[in-house]
Amino acid sequence: MKTEIMGVRFDNVTMSEALSFAADIIENDVPAYCVTPNSEIVYQAMHDADFCQLLNDASLVLPDGAGVLLGAKILKKPLKEKVAGIDFAANLLGILEKKGKTLYLLGSKPGIAELAAEKMHEKHPALKIVGMADGYYQDEAPVIERINAVKPDVLFVCLGAPKQERFMKAHLDELKVRFMIGLGGSLDGFAGTVKRAPKWMIRLQLEWLYRLIKEPKRFKRMLCLPKFVWATLIKRMKGSK
Ligand code: UDP
Repeated sequence: MKTEIMGVRFDNVTMSEALSFAADIIENDVPAYCVTPNSEIVYQAMHDADFCQLLNDASLVLPDGAGVLLGAKILKKPLKEKVAGIDFAANLLGILEKKGKTLYLLGSKPGIAELAAEKMHEKHPALKIVGMADGYYQDEAPVIERINAVKPDVLFVCLGAPKQERFMKAHLDELKVRFMIGLGGSLDGFAGTVKRAPKWMIRLQLEWLYRLIKEPKRFKRMLCLPKFVWATLIKRMKGSK
């Protein structure tokens, strides 16, 4: 079931529902892509109709972040739970390993995908990673060619928004991939080059604060979070008049 939050139509699912949806998709021959918008991305979509459409055209739209959940609550359309892209991807690795499905990693700076693959293999030794490419290419054609040469079941697209959403939508039919997931900086997370917040901060919905402390240069970008929350408050007040 879809729940519309400031124009973005989220799938109101739990982590395990999202995973079983993904498990079905990768058995299918119909190519699909998944997006994982946080409040910053929704705020971007509120001001860019084309980008909003790219998000809404995805087969699976997962709420990545406490801000989206808070906004949903303010709008009286509560979502079941946060399904962070990196957690969804980490859980999916176990499914891919068990089913013998193949994975390709695209994005981040040179060397990061290799490091991420190493870390993934530590936890999932039988996981089949069939290729990797960094996200700083000049020309897309050879990237597509290399992916199509190995026809992975799943492609992690970690190019940041909106580049990754544009990539997935533009090449959905051309790519010989069953399921693509836009995952922002997740490969940096898997590689360990960008640390995630401690569990207690994640539990208290304070992951944004940890990121802000670790990467103060994100401050301007992160102002989208209060702006998004403010916009939901205004919408609620207007709606209840
Ligand atoms: N990136 C990339 N190619 C580009 C621009 C960015 O591969 O042309 C990568 C970048 O190295 C980083 C990710 O995309 O790993 C974006 O991370 P960010 O933290 O902005 O995304 P978030 O997780 O906040 O969505």
